[in-house]
Amino acid sequence: MAEKVVIIGSGPAGWSAAIYAARANLSPLVFEGAITNENSQNGTLPLGQLNQTTEVENYAGFPAGELDQFLTSALEEGERMMLPPGHGKHAITGPELMHLMRQQARNFGTRIITDDIASVDFSKRPFTLTRLEGETLEAETVIIATGARANYLGLESEALYKNRGVSACAVCDGALPIFRGKPLVVVGGGDSAVEEATYLTNFASRVYLIHRRDKLRASQIMAERAMRNEKIEIVWNHEVAEVLGDGNQVTGVRLASTVDDSEQSVDCAGMFCAIGHTPNTAFLGGQVKTNEAGYITWTTPFRTYTSVEGVFAAGDVADDYYRQAITSAGTGCMAALDAERFLAATH
Ligand code: NAP
Repeated sequence: MAEKVVIIGSGPAGWSAAIYAARANLSPLVFEGAITNENSQNGTLPLGQLNQTTEVENYAGFPAGELDQFLTSALEEGERMMLPPGHGKHAITGPELMHLMRQQARNFGTRIITDDIASVDFSKRPFTLTRLEGETLEAETVIIATGARANYLGLESEALYKNRGVSACAVCDGALPIFRGKPLVVVGGGDSAVEEATYLTNFASRVYLIHRRDKLRASQIMAERAMRNEKIEIVWNHEVAEVLGDGNQVTGVRLASTVDDSEQSVDCAGMFCAIGHTPNTAFLGGQVKTNEAGYITWTTPFRTYTSVEGVFAAGDVADDYYRQAITSAGTGCMAALDAERFLAATH
């Protein structure tokens, strides 16, 4: 029998959709993603981008506090053990928030499979979804909440040193011994870049933030915090032209000015890319309409409808504008309500 609602993805959009669909007795099935080397390399592991971040200061309702007792009582033991030690100074951390959302979805009967949907057939209903190892299942409605993943610069030298000093996740890799007490480079000028740079000051001797313009894109509060941090030096108007290394490890970066022909080198043990994201839509094989950057297009304002009736999209995979945890969660709720109404109207 076809599933009523299958949710693909396990960030705030996926779990919020699951909570709403479960409470509407739709018995949702969530594919939270597979734990594979490829997903690890691409930054597409279960629980999404928030699980790879530190504090989430702008998700309303979760200030910092004595969280230990709450987490221990709210989460099942296995789930609690997955959390890294320590809490946020100003607010809840991304991993804490994600595990709480997952638990809340489970509490209302959401079923979870730790696998990817590798391909889909949306040509007829019920839709057919194919898992990584080729198993298939049918679904009457699908909510796509697969999010987006971090971009890299695309340099050959960068690819050569990936996981040997080049990373797109300071929280995942920043504490590694190779980076401790060493100078590090972060590329980008958005919130992610200043957040990563600030986080890396916990380990690095100095952090160079390389930005291609003379003004940060980051929000004022985060930009000011980075500029006040004595360990962070912002290198304005420069791009990374080459990652330098000794064959084993990163030893520096060669920078090219974006305003004249000058170049300079910076010694560093690691380069962290924080230059934006790409939506995870490849598995759709072009069957759902997207914009030029690959983000799924909503076909009706204030509805999560996609170009395929019965397929809904929520979160960053359909949002290249707001891209916030809280907006993702909101659209996840909308997608579940849209799926519920679609099922009621078609059955
Ligand atoms: P973003 O806002 O798109 O910023 C990307 C940055 O990378 C920009 O500064 C951009 O430069 C630079 N860039 C892009 N391609 C580049 C290239 N090829 N070479 C060099 N630099 C390049 O992305 P984000 O920082 O990941 O943030 C995404 C969203 O998440 C935003 O809405 C942000 O507010 C949110 N976010 C929030 C928090 C928080 O509040 N705690 C933390 C992280 C992210 P230009 O400025 O010149 O375009």
